[in-house]
Amino acid sequence: MSITFQIINTVTIFIAISVVALITSSYAEETEKKLTLYNHTLEKAASTDALTLLPNRRGILAYLDQLFDKNQDTQEVHRFSIVIGDVDLFKKVNDQFGHECGDVVLKEISRVFSDFMKDKGQVSRWGGEEFLFVFDHFNKEETSQQLESLNERIKKLVLIYEEHPIHIALTYGVAEYCGGDYHHTIMQADQKLFVGKRSGRN
Ligand code: GH3
Ligand code: MG
Ligand code: MG
Repeated sequence: MSITFQIINTVTIFIAISVVALITSSYAEETEKKLTLYNHTLEKAASTDALTLLPNRRGILAYLDQLFDKNQDTQEVHRFSIVIGDVDLFKKVNDQFGHECGDVVLKEISRVFSDFMKDKGQVSRWGGEEFLFVFDHFNKEETSQQLESLNERIKKLVLIYEEHPIHIALTYGVAEYCGGDYHHTIMQADQKLFVGKRSGRN
């Protein structure tokens, strides 16, 4: 009688422990899944510009790193060009029509950039009214041609803010990647942009 009781007791305890372990492990699994998803959302938010929804500086640098990782095994230098575009006299837009209008302009041109770059690479908000474009598989000449068509689109963009028509132009600095650290190419594009600004913009 006592042995039977002990066996039943042991089996019951064993089952109870198994049930608790099962519940705990499935709870841990669910928590882990939620945490992974949450991490992914945080990662995305940290790489996205809240106003324009374009990748921010962190986002575009991650894109460039990925481009390099993908092409690590090939011996050839990956061909791409970097462009930095800066809105001309943007301060005037803010001064004349207000900061909110400036925000609308940034959002609108970002939409055009994003649409234009869909099959060409990536565009990001580099900071303020500056945008960094990566033209993947484009050399400098091809990129300059692309910028001509992008400029046409920007010219055609009719921006009306509280009945005021707003005209936007940008100056671009272009540099083709020639191997080594891509940060150097970014620097070259920035220097070209500076030259463009000094020689009359647009
Ligand atoms: P330049 O042709 O030499 O580039 O002239 P600019 O007026 O565009 O250049 P400047 O650097 O003098 O001014 C840039 C302005 O962009 C000033 C800043 O307030 C504005 N700006 C930067 N980020 C934002 C933003 O998120 N929203 C708005 N509305 N304005 C912004
Ligand atoms: Mg600027
Ligand atoms: Mg500017």
